[in-house]
Amino acid sequence: MTDTLPRVTYSNIGADFSPLHAFLDREIPAFQSDMLGKDWATPFATGPLAAVASPIDPALELGRFPVSTEADVKAAVASARKGAAVWNKASLDDRLAFAARWQAALDEAKYRLGIAALFEVGKSRTEAIGEAEEAVDMLDYYPGELKANAGYRREMIEMVPGETAVSVQRPYGVFAVVAPFNFPVALSVGMLCGALLTGNAVVYKPSPECQLTGLLLAETLRKAGLPEGVFNLVLGGAATGEALTTDPGIDGVVFTGSHKTGMSIFRHMAARPWMRPVIAEMGGKNPAYVTKNADIERAAAGVARSAYGLQGQKCSACSVVYVDNAVKEQFIEAFRAFAATLQVGDPRDAATFMGPLYNDAAAARFTQAVAEARATGRVLLGGERIADLPGNYFAPTLVEMDGPSRLTREELFMPFLVLRGVDGLEAALAEGNDVSYGLSAGIFSQDQAEIDHFLTHAEAGVLYANRASGATTGAWPGGQPFCGWKGTGVGGKGGLGTWYLPQFMHEQSHTIM
Ligand code: GLU
Repeated sequence: MTDTLPRVTYSNIGADFSPLHAFLDREIPAFQSDMLGKDWATPFATGPLAAVASPIDPALELGRFPVSTEADVKAAVASARKGAAVWNKASLDDRLAFAARWQAALDEAKYRLGIAALFEVGKSRTEAIGEAEEAVDMLDYYPGELKANAGYRREMIEMVPGETAVSVQRPYGVFAVVAPFNFPVALSVGMLCGALLTGNAVVYKPSPECQLTGLLLAETLRKAGLPEGVFNLVLGGAATGEALTTDPGIDGVVFTGSHKTGMSIFRHMAARPWMRPVIAEMGGKNPAYVTKNADIERAAAGVARSAYGLQGQKCSACSVVYVDNAVKEQFIEAFRAFAATLQVGDPRDAATFMGPLYNDAAAARFTQAVAEARATGRVLLGGERIADLPGNYFAPTLVEMDGPSRLTREELFMPFLVLRGVDGLEAALAEGNDVSYGLSAGIFSQDQAEIDHFLTHAEAGVLYANRASGATTGAWPGGQPFCGWKGTGVGGKGGLGTWYLPQFMHEQSHTIM
């Protein structure tokens, strides 16, 4: 029956989701009563249970989860080393067969995974189901790339008559996979694909906010079937993460999360006897440019969707918009009108577009940013907490600043958009590029020369022109390689693109006479 439900992807915003909502009207309460509030147990997590509350409502307990001790982390890495001894040698066909089995298991579990993300992150229904759909699509895309590139094997030049030479890619061994809270399904699956499909064993640590989703994902891997020890899961926060990423038994780390944590992983790895890969995606400060040649309605919708979708808690969220002064008032008016249609509320409700912020620290950062904007700029829209809701719910907020500041430069990760009025695209790009991140950027213009100028000069890895579904958001497997420039990324090859998987392997040349 679920086969007939409409898919949620970034390209079908505005589709008729009513059959999906009718299904979710039943499934969400059923999930809540079956799956929330339980005590969990899992190997490699023998420490005390800790209760975690849902950001939707602090009175709603997600469950009680065990913490991994240092000894658990060591045991998980030792198990992964055993798994690596087998999986590092797995043929391309074996890895592709596993990918097909995993995709089937994920497809079967996708609504439950999405609903788990809804409860754990406070995602709207469509954001939550959308990321589970994306995870399933990753298992079309990455195996397709592996196959199309023959496992990235290349015939080389015959240097000596009669000699054959090939380049092959071999896994490093064991990867630590450290996932963030904001896309607990898609980003976990993406990083796990990178490691597992290339023949590495893994120790996976979901975000401490999203352990239920992590455990359900582990269940899909168990169903898919891997040799013993290839997939291992540890639970916990920063201390567990540090024990894992500094363990000498790890050959590489793949990480999505904050710049601070990513750079500390990188420094730890650099202090080892030899270098090993760190593949990290670490935030963004993503600008949108609205020129005087923009379709203003489209720009308002695209900017608002990417600033406020998932409450602005996306690495790719638009958090500063540079609007040509010639169209600034018109843009503000259209933006207000569009933002007024976005409902803030409990994500269990079908009509909700924005749920809560994920924790109290994020709420405190929001309040601080609003105070700064009031002192040094103007609040044009929102700025306040929604007092009659139980969690950290805030109104979509737009502030205008008269010059560059912390608010135009730092990643904020909240539904807080800064507007800057500018004269011309060049001045806007100079300011928008003057940040330490470089993930995504968008332009709204009907003038091809302006779009070309933007594509040439924007210093970010993921560029969009005139995207109404999200000015700077919505990368999809096979469509938009998701690559961080500057302080956003280490590795330089984006997930969701051709060059992602080779980063999990080192090259070996075989020359045979
Ligand atoms: N895949 C999401 C997008 O393109 C963002 C993921 C992230 O926040 O890291 O909007």
